[in-house]
Amino acid sequence: MKRVKITSEVADIEKVELHQHVDGSIPVDVTWRLMRKHGLNPVNSKKEMEKLLVLQEGEEGALLRYLDKFHYPLWITQFYDNIASVIESIVAEAYENNVRLLELRYAPIIHVFAGLTLRQAISSVLSGINKSKKRFPDMELGLIVIAMRHQGPHIATILARQAISEAQSLHERSGVIGFDLAGAERGNPARLFGESYDIARSGGLQLTIHAGEDEGPQAIWESIDILGATRIGHGCSAIKDKVLLKRLARDKIMIECCYTSNYQTGAVKIGEPHPILTFLEYDIPISICTDNTTVSATNQNKENAILLQWMSPLELRKIHKTSEKHSFIHKNGRPRMVHSKTKPAKRKKRLTLV
Ligand SMILES: [Zn+2]
Repeated sequence: MKRVKITSEVADIEKVELHQHVDGSIPVDVTWRLMRKHGLNPVNSKKEMEKLLVLQEGEEGALLRYLDKFHYPLWITQFYDNIASVIESIVAEAYENNVRLLELRYAPIIHVFAGLTLRQAISSVLSGINKSKKRFPDMELGLIVIAMRHQGPHIATILARQAISEAQSLHERSGVIGFDLAGAERGNPARLFGESYDIARSGGLQLTIHAGEDEGPQAIWESIDILGATRIGHGCSAIKDKVLLKRLARDKIMIECCYTSNYQTGAVKIGEPHPILTFLEYDIPISICTDNTTVSATNQNKENAILLQWMSPLELRKIHKTSEKHSFIHKNGRPRMVHSKTKPAKRKKRLTLV
């Protein structure tokens, strides 16, 4: 990985992180400690373990090699206390990067292999978030629940119901603030997931979606027109469609930009300019995000330092202010049926399993 110099003008920026996955962001030290504790370590040294958890030079540019790094963290994050404790370590690392508002995201369904219920898999993260809040009272924290595309629309519907039962609006302490769809875009189009998004919306959750990372602009159109998402994760392929770019700007739909990750997964080809510059040209709100601090060997300071090539520290500060306005943490009120500015298009009623 390239070394990036972190100047004080970057370190001093108060940062807002809106797109960071739990599984890809557990510090190597913590994974190593928990693996050793449970006698699960597949290699004998932390250095060797690091190679399995962090994308290495020569591994960039392919989504499958990137996703392979998520395999080992799942061995330890099947247990309530472990999950709560990794959350605390992720929050502490973000705080060191001067992140003062952090939305973490997580797919509960891949954390139930050892017997946790979906609800417990969600509340373990919230427990870690609540403990972190006591340690860092000047930090705002929230959780976005992810459904995985390849598990299909019915499982997504079940997850949406579990997510709303832990919604921020229903609890005194930290709760779920948003709903997201991630995983393989190809073959699993957004338009099939309308029902889960309707449930999440009706339960007071805000809506984002991974779209246009591995698919064309149509995936983003469906995300905003059919699902009513107000933020898009990655959205790289939007640059191929000028009408879409204008729409994103008009409706102030935020793109959660993950610069380093996009080159590593091949969403943006190495050597090509990053779409973030086009998004700014079109006046589309963007946020600067890490995606996965451990897998991508990055952090908020690094992501901001890289962008200094094209923008001033003042512009970076403005981007974080805009991100704060688009944060889901402030937007969760009482459950309501429809709130989105982008009204989802009508679709055929589908059979519900739950
Ligand atoms: Zn992501």
